[in-house]
Amino acid sequence: ESDHVRLSEDVAQKDVLETLDGLSADPSVHGVLLQLPLPNELEEQTCLARIPAHKDVDGFHPHNLGSMLAGYSRLEPCTPRGIMTLLRAIDFDPEGQQAVVVGRSRIVGRPVAQMLIRADATVTVCHRHTRDLAAEVQRSDLVVVATGVPNLVAGDWIQPGAVVIDVGITRKDNGDLTGDVEFETARQRAERITPVPGGVGPMTVATLMENTVRATCWQHDLAFVDGTLTEHVGRDLFEPT
Ligand code: NAD
Repeated sequence: ESDHVRLSEDVAQKDVLETLDGLSADPSVHGVLLQLPLPNELEEQTCLARIPAHKDVDGFHPHNLGSMLAGYSRLEPCTPRGIMTLLRAIDFDPEGQQAVVVGRSRIVGRPVAQMLIRADATVTVCHRHTRDLAAEVQRSDLVVVATGVPNLVAGDWIQPGAVVIDVGITRKDNGDLTGDVEFETARQRAERITPVPGGVGPMTVATLMENTVRATCWQHDLAFVDGTLTEHVGRDLFEPT
């Protein structure tokens, strides 16, 4: 079950925090997601940190981000985690692969780079100050693009046989959605490529559901062991992922 709590655009920060506190204290709520970006003067970090780590299904609480960096975490950002699930599903093993992540945002670029490092890829992170983006993309076996700049990555930059994950979503004047990669030319060269829409977006939603189950387990001291839900007693608090 999901509930959409709508607050007015000019809501005061203390009212946002009170709303989050109410959801945090409610045992029937297993996951809380604060839709970003926040309007006006609201402090994003203060609001995000108010959601308790074990209900933070977006994985943005400093505790969860820090645990991810340390190599163990229970709740990780949905879009990056969905990308890793997608790579597993196509049997792409990042180990030893040259990966480029274009974009270094807190919600996509940075965490996906961390996850790829953890999966033993060699990772380059590019952003708006990168000098030669084309060269970085051309030498990569895996290209993950999350910038919101339509067609930033030219199709002919893609190394033949590379895997391309396009996270970007921009609405064109005619209402259609477009990604950050020149899809038609890139698909001629890529071994696999995600479309926009219909690629990373649905994986993000699916991962939010997965995180909600993980959050519920955390709150009730449960764990899936060999596919069976069991009491978590006697196991480490954090499981390596
Ligand atoms: P952001 O604006 O926070 O970050 C954009 C990043 O792109 C920055 O790190 C910036 O340095 C980099 N960038 C901008 N222009 C660049 C250029 N010319 N060359 C190299 N790097 C450049 O964006 P975000 O929140 O990470 O989102 C990125 C895109 O992904 C947006 O289109 C967003 O809508 C989309 N998105 C999709 C999903 C999904 O589920 N499919 C989830 C999150 C974000």
